[in-house]
Amino acid sequence: MASPSSSLPLAVIGAGITGLTAAWHLQRAGRPVVVFEAAPGPGGVVASIHDGEWLWESGPNTMLEGTAEVAAFIDAVGLGSRRIYAGDQAKNRYIVRDGRLVAMPTSPVGFVTTPMFSLGAKLGLLGEPWRPRAPADAEESVADFVVRRLGREFLDYAVNPFVGGVYAGDPRRLSVRHGFPKLFNLEQEHGSLIRGALKRRNTSGGPKGRIFSFPDGLVELPRALAASLGPAVRFGTRVSTIRHADGAWEIRSAGDATARAERFAGVLCALPADALAKVRFENVPGAERLPELAEIEHPAVTSVFTGHRRADVAHPLDGFGLLMPEVERRRVLGVLFSSSLFPGRAPAGHVALTTFVGGVRAPQLALLDDEAILRLVREELSALLGVRGEPAFVHLQRWPRAIPQYTLGYGRFKKIFADVEAGSPGLRFGGNARDGISLANCIESGRRLALAATGGGS
Ligand SMILES: Cc1cc2nc3c(=O)[nH]c(=O)nc-3n(C[C@H](O)[C@H](O)[C@H](O)COP(=O)(O)OP(=O)(O)OC[C@H]3O[C@@H](n4cnc5c(N)ncnc54)[C@H](O)[C@@H]3O)c2cc1C
Repeated sequence: MASPSSSLPLAVIGAGITGLTAAWHLQRAGRPVVVFEAAPGPGGVVASIHDGEWLWESGPNTMLEGTAEVAAFIDAVGLGSRRIYAGDQAKNRYIVRDGRLVAMPTSPVGFVTTPMFSLGAKLGLLGEPWRPRAPADAEESVADFVVRRLGREFLDYAVNPFVGGVYAGDPRRLSVRHGFPKLFNLEQEHGSLIRGALKRRNTSGGPKGRIFSFPDGLVELPRALAASLGPAVRFGTRVSTIRHADGAWEIRSAGDATARAERFAGVLCALPADALAKVRFENVPGAERLPELAEIEHPAVTSVFTGHRRADVAHPLDGFGLLMPEVERRRVLGVLFSSSLFPGRAPAGHVALTTFVGGVRAPQLALLDDEAILRLVREELSALLGVRGEPAFVHLQRWPRAIPQYTLGYGRFKKIFADVEAGSPGLRFGGNARDGISLANCIESGRRLALAATGGGS
């Protein structure tokens, strides 16, 4: 028997990548859907901005085509022919060691000869396959996990800068189980990271994790999704209350000039943790714990896009960018070589760099005033890349709450999501506080939400 609410549309809250992906799948499955979005446009933190011949990303800069699903999704959305892959030189990633840029090794021979790790650290790696695995219920920090399996130098000069670049986070605080589930599972399934990685490389036929964007920047993806959803997306409409009543879901929202209450068959929440914590839930068992999600740490990050005349930069910028180990005690988390990654980011004869400041390591630096941050960035770029003279273009973007930190004990937050869902079929949660922080994770999260709402799984 059809439920009394089955003729009602489904509601998606949030038109970031997660919510738009969920709504797009629902529309393809023939389900009527309404997307509520507080901001005036689509994309959430994804925003690519043209200013003359400069093109800069104020939020995420790159997407990883790590799975066949991501590639198929981009094709299905109609953006396959717009995708631009980062050139081969993007494989070149620099780490700063003793104040100098050292290229990360990309082959076994490169690993043996790299000055990045000492001979002792390299030899120590030979013992990794024989080190015992942690118990399945272990809750261990990324730092403890890496020191236990690979040794201290790999923490300091590989994992610490990587965690700084991806999470703007601190490996001593992040949980390996929740923050890096693939790494955690590699040890659990194969007893060794090296053995597991080799096995996976030999068996996986999927894409090799290429980095991509689009000619007008990453914003092309949310724009294309929103365009295909058309009037189903209501911009400038903030959801204030979600109420379960009479077998259906009532949503109260306030748009620019209107405030209305409507009924839906189900609700898919694709909101950042702090925004979800502020929504009022009525008649939803366990929802009184959702405000606890505001406790999830999101450090401040400021991203500084600078353009320079090519002649003013000594470094060849032949790579993806540089990452900064904390032990180097410098003031930036990393620098992307934006104009080397993708074409069309800087006018002829110029280069573009994106520098990240702050994160868990030094949140106070992200909060300095514009002039002080710019001075800091210019001093660091001068020391690291030999950048001279006045920049030709500058834009600074502040993220007071950048990226959720999957810290030790994060299972507590995941359990809140799961408990509320278990008590209220029809209400589902996705997004970067639950399903992982990368854009690829958010695409998968949106697909999962849509599948759950159409009875295809959880
Ligand atoms: C500076 C920065 C750099 C990053 N770099 C990368 C990168 O290079 N590669 C990568 O893969 N990932 C990167 N990430 C992570 C990734 O961009 C995010 O995790 C992802 O975009 C989150 O998408 P989302 O849809 O879950 O949430 P969001 O993008 O936050 O979207 C949520 C939406 O909900 C809306 N909303 C909030 N409250 C309400 C309400 N009450 N009613 C209605 N709407 C509401 C918001 O306006 C927003 O549009 C970066 C993130 C940041 C901040």
